[in-house]
Amino acid sequence: MPPLFQCLICGQSIERSMKVFWKRKGHLLCSTCRDRIDSTPDPAKGNATP
Ligand SMILES: [Zn+2]
Repeated sequence: MPPLFQCLICGQSIERSMKVFWKRKGHLLCSTCRDRIDSTPDPAKGNATP
């Protein structure tokens, strides 16, 4: 059974393997928040209009 971690954004409990945990250096997001970030335009790219 994989250990439970908390999403950094919403605090939801998520199951992740220790391998992923170390790979991400402990920065884990649930799939919902990760999808939200992926679909949000990156302001650093200069295409986003506030
Ligand atoms: Zn989340």
